[in-house]
Amino acid sequence: MSPDEALLALQHVDTTADQLRHRREHLDERDRLATASEALTAWEARRVELNERIASASEVVESAETEGERLAAESTRLNQQLRTVIAPREAEALQHEIENLAAQRSESDERGLMALGDQGEAETLLGEHLAREGSIREALTLADERLQIAESGIDTELGDLDGQRSTIRGELDGQLLSRYDRVRAKVGVAAARLAGSKCEGCHLDLSAAEVDEVRRAPDDSFPECPQCGRLLVR
Ligand SMILES: [Zn+2]
Repeated sequence: MSPDEALLALQHVDTTADQLRHRREHLDERDRLATASEALTAWEARRVELNERIASASEVVESAETEGERLAAESTRLNQQLRTVIAPREAEALQHEIENLAAQRSESDERGLMALGDQGEAETLLGEHLAREGSIREALTLADERLQIAESGIDTELGDLDGQRSTIRGELDGQLLSRYDRVRAKVGVAAARLAGSKCEGCHLDLSAAEVDEVRRAPDDSFPECPQCGRLLVR
């Protein structure tokens, strides 16, 4: 390989590797894995939410039950008291209190029933929700495997390119390589052909005098494009 060919080949290998690394960063598989992982997070949050709903409904059910028992006991006590009362005004007051207790009890029962309904509904929803866990986790595992496959395919290609790169660099002289590396660090693509009067790196035309100067430069000297600084291959 002539130094011209070697330099362009090196550029080609480096550009291909850059493209592969870019592709590796932006794989659709990576987006799909992120989506699958978000789906699992959302699923877990919903499970927590349903469990909390069940727990708080069940707490209301229990407290309504306790309250109902307390009211019933109180009502029994007042009814017993009522039997022993003779004064009509006192009896009337007790009667009134007993009615009050009955109203409270009915409210508390109502609250308990509503909560029980809500608990049942949330339990049904939780059952359906838990049934989806398997497929959500499976989708995540699959997305993860697909990303790994895509990445390792690219890594294999990158490994091959690395080998080619070392071989080509071995053929080029150190000073040229350090110029190449310096320009590449600055503009990405370091070597470009001069086609007629146009630099194929920046696509700008060189003046006649500049072209002349580039053409007259010694072989293998790789003069730089006056516009973009790339190493020109003639
Ligand atoms: Zn240029």
